[in-house]
Formats: sequence, structure tokens, C-alpha cells
Amino acid sequence: MTKLPLTKSLPLLFVAGALVAAEPSGISGKYQESAQKLITAALADDEGLQRLQYLCDRLGNRISGSESLERAIQWAAGEMKKAGLENVRTPPVKVPKWVRGKESAVMLAPVQKPLTMLGLGMSVGTPADGITAEVVAVNSFEQLTALGRAKVEGKIVLFNPAWQGYGPTVIYRSSGALRAAELGAVAVLVRSMTDHSLSTPHTGALNYTDGIAKIPAAAVTVEDAAMLERLVRSGVPVRVKLAMEAHQEQDADSHNVMGEIRGTEKPNEVVVLGGHIDSWDIGQGANDDGSGIMATFQAVALMKKLGLKPRRTIRVVFWVNEENGGEGGKAYRAMVGEAVKDHVAAIEMDGGAEKPLGFGFGGGGEFGGRGGAAVATSPAAFQRAVEIGKLLAGIQGGEMTPGGGGSDISPLLAAGVPGFGVRTVGTHYFDWHHTNSDTFDKIVPLEFRQNVAALAVLSYVLADMPERLSELK
Ligand SMILES: [Zn+2]
Repeated sequence: MTKLPLTKSLPLLFVAGALVAAEPSGISGKYQESAQKLITAALADDEGLQRLQYLCDRLGNRISGSESLERAIQWAAGEMKKAGLENVRTPPVKVPKWVRGKESAVMLAPVQKPLTMLGLGMSVGTPADGITAEVVAVNSFEQLTALGRAKVEGKIVLFNPAWQGYGPTVIYRSSGALRAAELGAVAVLVRSMTDHSLSTPHTGALNYTDGIAKIPAAAVTVEDAAMLERLVRSGVPVRVKLAMEAHQEQDADSHNVMGEIRGTEKPNEVVVLGGHIDSWDIGQGANDDGSGIMATFQAVALMKKLGLKPRRTIRVVFWVNEENGGEGGKAYRAMVGEAVKDHVAAIEMDGGAEKPLGFGFGGGGEFGGRGGAAVATSPAAFQRAVEIGKLLAGIQGGEMTPGGGGSDISPLLAAGVPGFGVRTVGTHYFDWHHTNSDTFDKIVPLEFRQNVAALAVLSYVLADMPERLSELK
């Protein structure tokens, strides 16, 4: 990315400010004062960061079915009450309980070397004495198919795909085990889903399919994946022993968390915003997605503090079980039932708290299949979103782009609710994603506060403006 020299970027900022000031009409004029109040409050706010720090350091990571998740849920509901939100509730959600247990991988030949690994979420374990087998290496499913059953059966398949961004590459994590099992492989190792690595393994969920053998799968570091592939391609037999205690326990009782500012004129119409409270069982789930739940919460808490009373209800929801099932998002959709038609917009933050650029609007988009069905948005609705975004020109955080959404709100988008997903610069998100290094120290306070500001302005205007987005044709 090229950076503008300071002497050039400063006049640009002034010009942008002057344009907004010169046209105090329409939405961006009408809401300029309340938007400025929210932005000023967000940029000075410490409370959101303090809550995020408490979540990370005192409550810890939050995998579905864990005691730490349930403690975080009860604490979060208490914090929403303390912030003065109304109708604070923790509706029940059944969630899968996957337990990692002890795990290890060791290369036994051509030299002995421990491999830095993390079992993939939802993976089955190995027998107690592990699985020891020769490794075959591929960069793609095409290469796997070309090897065929004769060369794959009884082997451990290493998937070492080139990084092409999360969406196109994650299929090797989610589907590698079942594709390899179809050809008789006994286990899978997959290169961690990242472009930058300091020997950090990245976990994440895999999917099995009924009727195809469930074989254990683990992420290895980019460095170890490259070494294993080099050795295999050099023609020397490579043997690895994989041992994993991973297993499923009975589904657990868990909860979504929700609180509101009730609308003054149309309380039944709802703008919902949030992220997911669960995380993986490693690190602190700071960026994924502690930052998303605490930034959306703080956006609403600041409205309450400032005495801003939107016409429609603004509801913050912490969805549970995004990482390995999506049961929280599905349960919320089921809970609202017919009232989904009165959801005027859904906003999700689940991409870390780096410097925000704006919002994806519409559905689908960068989250690929996880973003849910694309919602057709009219040009007028998109134009309105662009106008609201202009209120964020001062923090350069209001650019609207087509596509967006998020996995927790995808059931709402599938029912026709207009969806927004926070977009950030994303410089480091996938360095930390699903690793032990997703910790509070990675949160840059100014950038977190800018996210709070952007969420507060967008959700407030959507909840207060005269028309719903869906009425703009
Ligand atoms: Zn997430």
C-alpha cells in the first residue's frame, strides 16, 4: 500500500470536512450533530476497552460448552444491566461441546522433530497410541485427486496450499479431512490459515460428512508445512506420529446475551448489532471476537449515556457458538420468528478491531459462503448507506461497499434483513486469528474506539431516520 505524504493528505482531510459542512442537507446534515457527539464520546471512551480487558484477562477464552464461556455470559448480562440497557436477557441455546484434550505431532523420519500444531476444532481424536504413517504432500485438491487412492490410502495427507486470502484458502481446513478420507487417508495436516507466521499454528473448525470416515486433522505452522513438503518432494520417506485426545461431549446448555435501548416511536422495529461471545480454547479471543462484542455494546452504551433516544429499538446481541456450529445465530433467528420482518437492519463486527474503513452492505461478499444469502439492496438504499457513511468522514471510517454481513446475522440476511459487516484495514487480523496470540495487547486503543464510533453512528441513524432502508426504492 502506498502512503500519501503528510503534506498531501492533510489538505484532503480539510476538503472532505468542508464538503460535509457545506451541504447540511438530507441525512448527513440532519444527523451531523448527534453523530459528532457519538464520535467525540467514542474517541474519549475507556470503558469499552476496560470491559474488553476484563473479558480477556479475567474471564479468558470461551469455547462452546466451557465454564469460562458461561461465566463470560453471566458477566456480560450484568454489564449490560449496569450500562442501563433494557430487556437484558440470556435466551437459552444448545451448543456442541468439543474438547481438545492433549495433542502432539512428531516427525519421526527422516529426522526426529516435534511439530508445532493445533488440532482442528470438531476433529475426532486418534487412538490412544496415536497414528503413525508416511506423509504425502499436496498444494491443492487437484493434486490430491491426481495422486489417487493408490498413493493416499493409509497415509497422512499434508495440505500446503498457497495463501490466497481466507475465503479461498480456508476450504483446505474445513474440507481437507473429508476429501483425504475419501481416498483412504488416515489423518490430515493442514498449513495454518495465515499469510504471516512466526511458527504459530492456527486452529479453526472442520466439517465432516455423514458416510465418509472421520479422520483426525491438525493445523501445523507455515514453517513446518513448508519443511514437510520440501522433504516429501525431495523423495525421502517422511513419517509423522499424530496423537490427539479430541472428542465431542454431550451438547451443553448455553445462551445468547442481549440488551436494548427501546425505541421511542416504533419500539417493535429493531436495529440489531453484535458479534460472537464464544471463541476458540486458546489465546483470549481478543480480536475474534471479544472486540466485536465489546465495541457493539459500547456503541449502544454511549447512546444511553448521551441520552440519545432513537425512534426504533437498538438491540445489541452477543451470539454464542459462532466458531463451531453457529447455533447462537440460528437460535436468535428462531426466537424472533415473524418479527424478523421488523428487523430494519443487522450489523455484525467479526473481523477484529483494527482501523475501520467502513461497512460492507448487502450480504455475502467477503465472508463468502459464511455471509449467508446475498440480499438485494436497492440503489436508493445503498445511496442512503453511503450518505450515513459520510457522517464518519472525520475518522475516515464510513466507506460503504457492496457485500458484507457476517455468519451470526446470516440467518437474518437470508430472511431479507439488510445487513452490514464492519470492514477494517485487516493488516494483521489473520496473523492472530484462531491462535494463542489473539490477546488483548493486539488491540490498538484508538482503532478500537474508532470502531465504536462507526458502529454507534451507523446504528443510531438507521434506528432513528424516518424511513427504513427497505422502504427506499
Ligand atoms: Zn469470529
